[in-house]
Amino acid sequence: MATFLPHNHQCATCEFWDGQRKVSTDRKEVIVEPSGFYGKCMVNPKITPPKKPAGGSCSKWQKWGFLA
Ligand code: SF4
Repeated sequence: MATFLPHNHQCATCEFWDGQRKVSTDRKEVIVEPSGFYGKCMVNPKITPPKKPAGGSCSKWQKWGFLA
């Protein structure tokens, strides 16, 4: 299990990442289980490799709507 804070602008906390994740009860961080450590980026579908790691990033990051 890994946790991610939105101020680091990583895929796990991005609106456009479709990996398996859940938001903490205080909605301040995202929890990612190892089985869902990679996910597709919905704004960059043609990137290579097609799935981005939870710890990835890019300039199009936007905060996931479930986060406070
Ligand atoms: S690659 Fe960029 S836009 Fe795509 S999920 Fe990661 S931070 Fe978001």
